[in-house]
Order: sequence, then C-alpha cells, then structure tokens
Amino acid sequence: MWHKIYYLISHFTWIFGLGFLVSLGVWGTRKRTSHHKVAKREWDDAVAKKMNEPISLHPEIDPSLCGGCGACVAACPEGEIIKLLNHRAQLIEPAKCVGHGQCQAACPFDAIQLVFGTKTRGMELPKIDGNFQTNVPGMYISGELGGMGLIRNAVKQGKLAAEHATKNLRPGIAAQFDVLVIGAGPAGLSAGLVCAMKKTKYMVIEQNKFGGTIYNFPKQKVVMSYPLDLPMVGSYKFKANKVSKEELLSLWHHVRKQANLQLKEECRFVNLQKKGDLFEVETSSGTITAQKVILGMGVRGTPRKLGLPNEELAKVTYNLLDPDQYQQKWVAVVGGGNAGVECAQYLAKASLKNKVFLLVRGPSFDRCNDENQTIILDMEKKGLVQICYNTSVDAIEADHLMVKRDGKIIRLQNDFLFVFAGAIMPFAFLKSIGVQIETKYGEPVKAG
Ligand SMILES: Cc1cc2nc3c(=O)[nH]c(=O)nc-3n(C[C@H](O)[C@H](O)[C@H](O)COP(=O)(O)OP(=O)(O)OC[C@H]3O[C@@H](n4cnc5c(N)ncnc54)[C@H](O)[C@@H]3O)c2cc1C
Ligand code: SF4
Repeated sequence: MWHKIYYLISHFTWIFGLGFLVSLGVWGTRKRTSHHKVAKREWDDAVAKKMNEPISLHPEIDPSLCGGCGACVAACPEGEIIKLLNHRAQLIEPAKCVGHGQCQAACPFDAIQLVFGTKTRGMELPKIDGNFQTNVPGMYISGELGGMGLIRNAVKQGKLAAEHATKNLRPGIAAQFDVLVIGAGPAGLSAGLVCAMKKTKYMVIEQNKFGGTIYNFPKQKVVMSYPLDLPMVGSYKFKANKVSKEELLSLWHHVRKQANLQLKEECRFVNLQKKGDLFEVETSSGTITAQKVILGMGVRGTPRKLGLPNEELAKVTYNLLDPDQYQQKWVAVVGGGNAGVECAQYLAKASLKNKVFLLVRGPSFDRCNDENQTIILDMEKKGLVQICYNTSVDAIEADHLMVKRDGKIIRLQNDFLFVFAGAIMPFAFLKSIGVQIETKYGEPVKAG
C-alpha cells in the first residue's frame, strides 16, 4: 500500500506540479486582465468626466522607462490616480493629484517625475529657481504660493529657501533684519526655524494667527501628512500618517516656544520696494527693512467668490471652523473638491441634525480623493446629505438660495452657505512687486 502511494507520488509529482503552475498562470492572467479591464473602464470614465487632463501638478510617466511593476500604483495615498494599462503605468485620474510625490519616490526605474501643467495646458506660476529665489535677488517664495500644496512640501521648501537666504548675508547693511519671513504657516514656520538655528536677525510676520491655513481647518479635522522634516526637530512622523488639527497646532506651538521664534502676529504685509541692498517692507504695523525676504503667504488669502449679489451676507462663508455651531440648520456647501466635500461631511454629522446640500458644479467630484468620496457617498446613502451634481448657485436670498440644476432653477431653503471654490492666486500683486510669472508646460518640479 505505502509503496503504491510512493510510486504514484514519485511518478506523477511533475504532472501535479505542472497542473499547479498552469492554474497559477491562468489565475494570474485572469487577475491581470480583470485589473486591466477595471483600469480601462476607469480611464474611459475619466475621459468622459474630463478628469483625464491634469489641471496642475501631476506625475508624468516615461513609458520607455516603466517596467510595469506597479509600485507607483500602490504608493499613491490619494487613491487610484495611476493604474497599470497594457503592463505600463498610466495616469487614470490625474486631476486628483495633489503632489505627494510618493509614486516618484516608489518607482525603482526613475520613470516618474512631477511636472507642472501639460504641453497643451499651461499653468501660471511665479518664477523661482532651485533655491526658491525669485527673479528679484534676495526675494524667495516657498510653500503653496509657489504652486505645490501640502504641509510637508511647505515645510521642506521653507527650509530650503531659508538655508539659501541665510547664506551670503552682507555685514554692515543698515537693515533691521537679515531675513523677514512673511506668513506663519508651515512654510513660514520652517523658514523661521532655520533663521533661528543660523542665529540670524530675523522676524516672521503673520496677518492673522500663527499656524497658517491649518489654523482655519475645522475642529478635529484629520490632517494627512507623511513625515515632516522640521528644522530643529528633525523628522517627525504621525501615526498612520494622520494627525488632528489640534495635535498638529500643538506641535507647532511647542516648536515655536522651544525655538523662541521671533513672530509678530496680526501684522499684515502690504507692499515692498527694493532699495539698493535692502527691502523696505510696508506692513500694517509700519515699515520694516530686511536684506532678504521670504514670502510664505500661501494662497488662501483671497478665496474665490461666486460673484453674486448678496454674497456679503453674514450667512455666506468661505471656511468652517467649528461644525458644532451649526445645528438643525439648512446648509448648502458649494464645491466638489476635498475642502467642500469635507465641509459637507462635518456639517452632515447625524448628531447635528442639519439639512445639508452639497452643490457640485460638474457631473462628478472635482479633485476629491477616494476616501472623501467614499465617506460622502455613504452619508448620502444614509440620507445625511443630498449631493446635487451639475448644480450652481444662481441667486442668494436671506432665507433661500436659487440654484440652477441641469438648467432648471430650484429654490432651496437656506440658513448658511459655505463656498469652497478655491482661491485667487495673488499673481497681480506678485507682478507689482517685480516677480515674474511664467507659464509651465509640463516642466518638472525643481525641488521640494
Ligand atoms: C480644507 C483644506 C484641507 C487641507 N488638508 C490638508 C491635509 O490633510 N494635508 C496636507 O498636507 N495639506 C492639506 N491642505 C493644504 C495645506 O493646508 C497647505 O498646502 C499648507 O498649509 C501650505 O502652507 P503655506 O505655509 O504655504 O501656506 P499657509 O498655510 O496658507 O500659510 C500662509 C500664511 O500666510 C499668512 N499671510 C497671507 N498673506 C499675508 C500677508 N499679506 N501678510 C502677512 N501674512 C500673510 C496667512 O494668514 C497664513 O497664515 C489642506 C488645505 C485646505 C484648504
Ligand atoms: S513604479 Fe515605475 S516602473 Fe513600476 S509601474 Fe510605476 S512607473 Fe512603471
């Protein structure tokens, strides 16, 4: 009996092995084909929704270098922006890219670079060199004002700009400060910390409160961030790359205290002039002179408005600080990007008992990551929010909104209107202080 079994095994093992390998091959091919089909469907979908054309910053994949390993697909934290199609990585929904750059870091073949704009669709940006210096010698731009969003990028760029700005300072120049940093968001904080480490005479000025855009995030907002390389602190990692607004601000405040950061809040930068070797900077608290200036002002200073009569009513607002202030209200949120979708999520929490309408201009969400889309669609299923696509506000009234949906005018009861239509880039202002604005047609990101 045993030697019969042994005989069967020893003579037929190769058949079993072959069978197993063939099944594995068939399973693998089927799996690849089904992934391919999904990717193809998503690509067609993106073309139909006009999400296939990158809007601003996005990865560019060189198909001649791509080995088809898919490392980039797995690396992107925003969801399915890149997928494998015909064994090559392809951008599926580039319009969702916010510039994490994780795909670029993950690619073992150096097949990816981050670029601004495309050959056919230019993107306007202030002209800066690899050290974040503008065409005006001694004037730097770092953080979101330079075209790249995200806290981590702002911290990195503020650091690099300040490292360069603090080099070659000329002694004997009658300026109050060696370096003046404008804006106390992540870029400004990071730049200020470098200045403190280098023991330069510096000042950070901020028109509002320390913290930048993060200060205006909704209470308890979950902020997503890969490790930050904060000057003085070193690499700072958050659990699962997530941190609450409050924890992040508390870290900021701790670092500010440790570094004894020279910071003047509620001091607004108004204008500047270069006079010889120094900048004369006009602020709401008087004129400040400095050898070098780092602009870390972000882009949220001027939110894009709807341009409608009655927009100045107190019920119309452009950010959400404390969702708990709004209970049992009729609320409309304009915006299909992450900011609008997150605002609707906070306001539609069941405990608040609000009636929430999310008004999305196009037929689908716009630059909104998969996680936020899943959450809001789930809330819609539970009846917590009503998502209105192809809808825009036509008129604002004290207790109502007139909205246009697929060409039809609908009257909505309304107590509060939240508008998240992006921000106006302060290019006219930058030009007025001498900074050149250039249009990028698919040029790689220099640094950051
Ligand atoms: C709703 C929302 C959610 C986001 N979520 C995330 C996230 O989860 N993860 C992530 O990494 N990024 C996120 N971001 C993006 C991130 O907040 C920004 O990219 C980052 O804050 C940019 O940093 P910054 O220092 O360049 O500018 P900011 O943080 O905008 O700081 C600029 C500072 O400059 C000040 N300032 C402007 N003009 C003047 C002036 N004239 N005088 C003096 N001061 C001035 C402003 O008051 C502000 O404090 C989000 C953004 C928004 C709007
Ligand atoms: S990681 Fe690089 S080689 Fe691998 S699929 Fe992505 S682009 Fe291609």
